[in-house]
Amino acid sequence: MAIKKILLLGAPGLWKHCGAVRSIKAPGVRKTISDLRATLADFRKKNGFGRGIAAPQIGVLKRIIYIHFPKAGISGALINPRIEKRSKAKFKLWDDCFSFPGLLVRVERAREVTVSCTNEKGEDCVIAAQDDLSELLQHEIDHLDGILAVQRAIDNRSFAWRKEETP
Ligand SMILES: [Zn+2]
Repeated sequence: MAIKKILLLGAPGLWKHCGAVRSIKAPGVRKTISDLRATLADFRKKNGFGRGIAAPQIGVLKRIIYIHFPKAGISGALINPRIEKRSKAKFKLWDDCFSFPGLLVRVERAREVTVSCTNEKGEDCVIAAQDDLSELLQHEIDHLDGILAVQRAIDNRSFAWRKEETP
């Protein structure tokens, strides 16, 4: 388990499409999960926030995200997460990202999503998510397709520096 350097906006690895994990027993999967856990915990300790991280952010092009969302009882890795359903209802929010910690981006996300995945024990899971968990999962799963929140900006004024966040 190691705290990894988080790739920042502009790093080519963040634009890449990540490959599916064939088996949770495949080489490197356990290590990636524990590195994600340690790196997320470290970010939270230093910054006071942080609910999710995706493997490409630590340079691993595999479909693994790590979510810390105690409110919904979720704290762990989601492997090969896939959005099965999105609500037509949408909402707008200021999004942020470990890969550009000072920048806020106004995005629109589906209010509800249903996500299928494999958990750390190798069990198939389905998560029905609303609101903040919904946008978090959409954000992290976007990372696995090489998509960053800056590409989801509603328009070219949808950017703010963290201290000047628009209410
Ligand atoms: Zn991010």
